[in-house]
Amino acid sequence: MTSNDARATSVAPEDEVVRICQDLIRIDSTNYGDGSGPGERKAAEYVMGQLTEVGLDPLYVESEPGRASVLVRVEGRDSSRPGLAVHGHLDVVPANAEDWQVDPFSAEVRDGCVWGRGAVDMKDMDAMVLANLRHLARTGTRPPRDLVFAFFADEEAGGVKGSHWVVDHHPEVFEGVSEAISEVGGYSVTFPAKGTGEPTRAYLLQTAEKGIAWLRLRAHGRAGHGSVPNGENAVVRLAQAIARIDAHVWPREYIASVRALLDGLSELTGTPYDDRSPEELLVHLGGARGFVQGTLQDTANFTMLDGGYKHNVIPQGATASLDCRFLPGHEDDLMSVIRELAGEHVEVEVVHRDIALDAPFEGALVDRMKRALLAEDPGAAILPYCLSGGTDNKALSRLGVTGYGFAPLRLPADLDFAPMFHGIDERVPLDSLRFGARVLQRLLADC
Ligand SMILES: [Zn+2]
Repeated sequence: MTSNDARATSVAPEDEVVRICQDLIRIDSTNYGDGSGPGERKAAEYVMGQLTEVGLDPLYVESEPGRASVLVRVEGRDSSRPGLAVHGHLDVVPANAEDWQVDPFSAEVRDGCVWGRGAVDMKDMDAMVLANLRHLARTGTRPPRDLVFAFFADEEAGGVKGSHWVVDHHPEVFEGVSEAISEVGGYSVTFPAKGTGEPTRAYLLQTAEKGIAWLRLRAHGRAGHGSVPNGENAVVRLAQAIARIDAHVWPREYIASVRALLDGLSELTGTPYDDRSPEELLVHLGGARGFVQGTLQDTANFTMLDGGYKHNVIPQGATASLDCRFLPGHEDDLMSVIRELAGEHVEVEVVHRDIALDAPFEGALVDRMKRALLAEDPGAAILPYCLSGGTDNKALSRLGVTGYGFAPLRLPADLDFAPMFHGIDERVPLDSLRFGARVLQRLLADC
């Protein structure tokens, strides 16, 4: 081995994870959801550069010009075992610079954190994955089983031009893969322990995801002059449907992962809870309680409204956009409740739908994720949880892949982390990034 090689192999993932995260944040890959953004090409080219530099030969694909994803397989010592996918998305949601304390694409380091759009969702994890992948390649390490690494476009608009497109057009990339890990899980929350009141940490491992139904309500009526009484006004019919749907109380039902989280949290904190009002218990989760509150029942939120074109003209139609999220197994029920509440003059169109996921909080991979976390943070608790949003694991599930949210971050107790997903002043502590890189390194060596 030459001294150059020695230097190269001595670079650990934690040594370059911060640099890579900053590099990625500085590449604007905003996804506006309507195709008007810069796309992921520049970020994907950066990923290609980082991988070819260490001798890898990744596959670069574009679903349409600029909408790029990068895929690469690392062969394991035992390729007969089912593979593990490790994936992230390269796009970010828009950032309104005036609202931020820093330029959202500067990747400035301030107060021990990297600031910028994507620092939390999810260029942090992309950087941990890239740093680890580079380390595997540089050291020639073969993981226990095949690993397939994917950096997808378009997650923030449902993955139609990213993970779903790759699953449709390049399913062979995931040949033999049975499990996956990705974003929005594996981060810590801190709360006072039962009895002592001492701060104690728990990591939330994401095992389930709600399903998505983005619906458009289209009210029909009779057009006419604004001065003439009209009992078939589309705007009024739409407003009535909105009021009915909004007033609906969705019944609570605790799926296994939600129940396990509530029970675990209750045990750790000594706070009892009642099925009808677990809110007092959820306070212990800090900002993460928003994610959990959305998983106690199905939800339906109106987000956009459109109708009419002139002050003195009653329009023939009016529309509203509705964002529904359903628990595993609830899709049909939710759709029939919405259709009934919409009423006979309001049509319900499905704009986008995707399934709910529910993976077991047990088995070899879960044990190994726990082991990797505990090796770096002994004594912490690990609890499952269901995500109220969705991830690219939905697309991979179409190939029979069981996905988990595992982007490990040990966070300071006072950092209100969860609200930074799509929020302002997104930032991630440097120490947390290095911690995540080490946990991921352990997991990839023991998977
Ligand atoms: Zn994300």
